[in-house]
Amino acid sequence: MGAAAVSVSGTMPRPAVRPEERLGIALVGLGYYSTDVLAPALQQTEQVYLAGIVTGTPEKAEEWSKKYNIPASNIYNYENFDSIADNPAIDIIYVVLPNSMHAEYTIRAAKAGKHVICEKPMALSVRECEQMIEACEQAGVKLSIGYRLHFEPTTQEVMRIAREKPFGNIQFVTAGAGYRESRADHWKLSKEYGGGAMMDMGVYSLQGARYSTGEEPIAVTAQTFVTRPDLFREVDETTTFQLEFPSGAVANCHTSFTANMNYLLVNAERGWVRLQPFSGYGGIKGETSQGPLNFPEINQQAAQMDEVALCIKENRPMRVPGEEGLKDIKVVEAIFRSIQAGGARISLT
Ligand code: NAD
Repeated sequence: MGAAAVSVSGTMPRPAVRPEERLGIALVGLGYYSTDVLAPALQQTEQVYLAGIVTGTPEKAEEWSKKYNIPASNIYNYENFDSIADNPAIDIIYVVLPNSMHAEYTIRAAKAGKHVICEKPMALSVRECEQMIEACEQAGVKLSIGYRLHFEPTTQEVMRIAREKPFGNIQFVTAGAGYRESRADHWKLSKEYGGGAMMDMGVYSLQGARYSTGEEPIAVTAQTFVTRPDLFREVDETTTFQLEFPSGAVANCHTSFTANMNYLLVNAERGWVRLQPFSGYGGIKGETSQGPLNFPEINQQAAQMDEVALCIKENRPMRVPGEEGLKDIKVVEAIFRSIQAGGARISLT
């Protein structure tokens, strides 16, 4: 007792958490993000630990079980997943599946009585998002979306600048997030699975515009462009969209599965803020018209999962609740409507 650990989520020391007080998390879907990012991050968390896995691949189950010391009783597949309801070792289910499966597994997790973290984008439609929120409310469990940047200190400074307006009113935001995706056989190029640049990286540009203004858009226009038609038969390759905010602020956002880009530029009455990159797992670099932003580098995912666990333990609202994911999908639906209507202005009010 009395020992203090420096929190990964900040500089404030917190009392050390006893192992039996940590919440158990189960990762559903052991693909890239779970394997390369979340499982390693769970080796650095204080409030939560990797207690279980859900996978359709027996070889992965064996490998993870050995590597992370996961007992057989905490290993599930997609058929017996619902029986996780009977396992008190699992408190939180983290849905890390292709986008089209987010709604189903979030709802099944809620029905099993477990708190849920669901990866971004929350789901394929507003309707699905609403069903997920309702299922969690009915089950009395908490829901959070995997927008890890809300736990990242430089991003939090951008949010503070939007709130406190040290540079005056925000007037123009430019945000771009994209990388070169060339895996023809990956679900990210399939419409049925909810693939495409807008769903994958575009939500970062959209988030950037929303949190750097602190406002919800009232209208959107959008355009989409294809340069590799063989690959992008079903989903968008490069999409640009413009957002109008109630204050008069305007955002010009881009996303791409072809162009590599990652920046957020916020222009205000008396100054500016620029982050480049703005949405990486680390190395977020920021400066303002007054000089560099120097915030500590943290493990975003560890901070995110620790805070989710604390909110559950202390029965506080989530920093990134389901409603936050829903707000994005409302705009995403309008973006696709605008594109279908040849770039028409779609009102969101
Ligand atoms: P991935 O393709 O690497 O992994 C998906 C996993 O789902 C695989 O293990 C696959 O076997 C499994 N799966 C189960 N049923 C499947 C089915 N019917 N079809 C296809 N796969 C099936 O994808 P990923 O990059 O790990 O992304 C997973 C989710 O995490 C996505 O929603 C993505 O947007 C999100 N993600 C978030 C971040 C972030 O920074 N927050 C980063 C990467 C990915």
